[in-house]
Amino acid sequence: MKKILVTGGAGYIGSHTVVSLVEQGYFPVIVDDLRNSSLVLLEGLKELCGDRFSFLSIDICEKSHLFSVFESRAIDAVIHFAAYKSVGESCDVPLRYYQNNLIGLMNVLEACQTFKVEKFVFSSSCTVYGEPEVRQVFESTPKRLPESPYGFTKWMGEQIIEDIHRNPQPFNTLCLRYFNPIGAHPSGFIGELPVGIPNNLLPYITQTAAGIREHLTVFGDDYPTPDGTCIRDYIHVCDVAEAHVRALQHEGSLPLDVFNIGTGKGTSVLEMVRSFMDVSGLNLPYQLGARRPGDITEIFANVEKSKRELGWTAQRSVEDALRDAWNWEQQLKQHD
Ligand code: UDP
Repeated sequence: MKKILVTGGAGYIGSHTVVSLVEQGYFPVIVDDLRNSSLVLLEGLKELCGDRFSFLSIDICEKSHLFSVFESRAIDAVIHFAAYKSVGESCDVPLRYYQNNLIGLMNVLEACQTFKVEKFVFSSSCTVYGEPEVRQVFESTPKRLPESPYGFTKWMGEQIIEDIHRNPQPFNTLCLRYFNPIGAHPSGFIGELPVGIPNNLLPYITQTAAGIREHLTVFGDDYPTPDGTCIRDYIHVCDVAEAHVRALQHEGSLPLDVFNIGTGKGTSVLEMVRSFMDVSGLNLPYQLGARRPGDITEIFANVEKSKRELGWTAQRSVEDALRDAWNWEQQLKQHD
């Protein structure tokens, strides 16, 4: 059974990927120091996967600790999630983001070289497209400078990976550029656990519906879109998770490749709000507010390459994701 090191495997996308890996017969080795996660997700993983994974509480920025994992286990491939991900926070404490996200990545890459793993999968983001000139982006759409230190860590992460692949590497790399992952596992055992006040739309919506927040503020209704609100490509986190399994199975000829992980369809903020009300049967209090600095008007993925070369497409709808996110929010209340 192949052993897959999953850094940040106790986090939001990481935990869902662990479930998909177990379902497909892999053995995930989670490395996570739980600084941005919680035992709730690990307990959920135990419910869903039993003992078909292992967990090590390790900070990947401590190189010797990370290397000891590779020394004691024959790791076949690495999926690297562990990173800070708040755009706003990264503007307040940029050094913390650069240190954690880039040193962590470089340590993991060095371990992949040293221990000759087969494959490396990097969590990248559509943030590397910056404010694109087109609404729908292809993998070949030129990258642009991002708006935040967080975005730069993904942009520079891809650059570091590209640079090391100028020389032959023992491992193949796939960079997966996620669009907007939302939702939760349909079982309600794992989902998104925002720390403090959520920055992202979906957790803010579900927390408002649960009465934790008074109302949602829609950031800007004067954008040049049909209803004036921003458009994003929201994708169910379980679909994102399955893309990682396909990435591991991918046998492409290129040592380094890049894939968009989205649905190919854009949805506006107001459409999300209305769909949530339909799915939950609740009235969601919301107000129209000012634009949020740094927000781009519209972006959604072209997913032809992922479909053609990874044999992967999103299977779940935005409504499925909203239903699962709301189910998760209600389960979380029971943990309080
Ligand atoms: N958004 C909003 N209210 C919120 C949070 C987000 O109107 O409380 C909007 C935000 O301006 C953007 C969209 O929802 O247009 C998605 O935001 P999110 O932070 O989830 O993702 P990202 O901006 O990184 O694509």
